Amino acid sequence: MSERGGCWRLAGVIGDAAGPTAGTGDGGGAGWELVVDDGVITTLRPAPAGQPAPSDGPALVLCPPLLNGHDHGRGLGTVDAGIPDAPLEQWLDHLARPPRPRTQTELVGLAADAMLRAGVGAAVFCVNLTRPDVAAEVRAAAHAAIGRGIRAAVVYPVLDAASHRRAGRRRRPAAARAPVDAIVAEVEQLAAELAQAGAGSPAAGLVDVQLGPVGPQWVAEPTLARLAEHSAATGRPLHLHLLESPAQRAWADEVYPQGLVVALDRLGLLTERTTVAHGTWLRDDELALLDERGVTLVLNPSSNLRLACGISPVARAAARVRTACLGLDGLALSDDHDAWAELRLARGLWQAQEQRRVPGAEALALATAAGRAAFGAAAPRPPAEGQPADFVLLDLSPWRHLFGHPDWPLADIAVAAAGPAHVAEVWVAGSRVHHRREPSSRPDPSSAQAH
Ligand SMILES: [Zn+2]
Repeated sequence: MSERGGCWRLAGVIGDAAGPTAGTGDGGGAGWELVVDDGVITTLRPAPAGQPAPSDGPALVLCPPLLNGHDHGRGLGTVDAGIPDAPLEQWLDHLARPPRPRTQTELVGLAADAMLRAGVGAAVFCVNLTRPDVAAEVRAAAHAAIGRGIRAAVVYPVLDAASHRRAGRRRRPAAARAPVDAIVAEVEQLAAELAQAGAGSPAAGLVDVQLGPVGPQWVAEPTLARLAEHSAATGRPLHLHLLESPAQRAWADEVYPQGLVVALDRLGLLTERTTVAHGTWLRDDELALLDERGVTLVLNPSSNLRLACGISPVARAAARVRTACLGLDGLALSDDHDAWAELRLARGLWQAQEQRRVPGAEALALATAAGRAAFGAAAPRPPAEGQPADFVLLDLSPWRHLFGHPDWPLADIAVAAAGPAHVAEVWVAGSRVHHRREPSSRPDPSSAQAH
């Protein structure tokens, strides 16, 4: 987190950076000018006409940072931890006893490093406990994220009715008001402590603490209602898993014949402050209700495959929920936190489910603009003049020959082919937090794939 300024001539700008017309940038003409001064974008606009396009150096394209709307911070991944893929309810047993245990600090730190290398500038970390002290675990996760310079929503897990996880069922709700009040007080204390720690530094605003009822089948109804009440009173965001597996769908249909999602709505849980993850088994009417309430829905296609949960309903969600977005869940298909590959998988499913070509810009929104609400106070703003520097510089030099081709807007090139090797720089909250080993100004663009 040492660098706070620089200036570049870009081949183009994609996503919703610098206004709605930017995404159509074709890399032709004179390109774009970008200047960052003391962490703030002071210039981001098309270069004046008549200026020659840069002919040497890598073809850099500015993209909003990718957002990982649902994760846990699983270190180098579950293969490294020794946890084999399996149907969710079996897999949870393995998750609790990894052959290679690591501390919360290691888990979140290693995951954040890998995400930043892939161009992920913000992640939701739903804390999986490695020891019983919940506050200490949440604190450790938050500090690990701050130390890496990644924006983070750190989710405090609440799990008070989960004696039979394997069966995906609640035990008899026993939550009295006092213990939930104690949890809520602890969450607020942590949030205040972290805000205090970051005050006046580049880390200010990097972390948001959220309430995390882990999933409706594992949390007592009075607890859900109390957390919703606290969220309404204070604005504190909520994040929960929802209908991830077939077993969870079966439980929901048995316990809530009128509909689980309707029941959550009645408990006050469905608001624009709430994010739900997976939604693998959501029906169309349930998707519509989430959208009506402004809930953010995070899709996790790779995780759903690895945990035998099903096929992520990308097309149905994208058609019905304005804030449908993507998360890695710490279970990227190659166990590598590659959010570009996740985006390609999501677009592939979307195309197969809809039998049409999904434009790159539309797909890219799933991994960028659509997920911002999941981050609460830690959300990055779209890159624009006057905003803190939150962006990725992608090196699209290997595809320079496609620039300007009508079939290949820059967003389509990025969505079709980019990966961690093409992430030249990552800026978060005004600081450069990652750069590829070679300087991004090296003269030979043909070596751009090296890293
Ligand atoms: Zn999860």
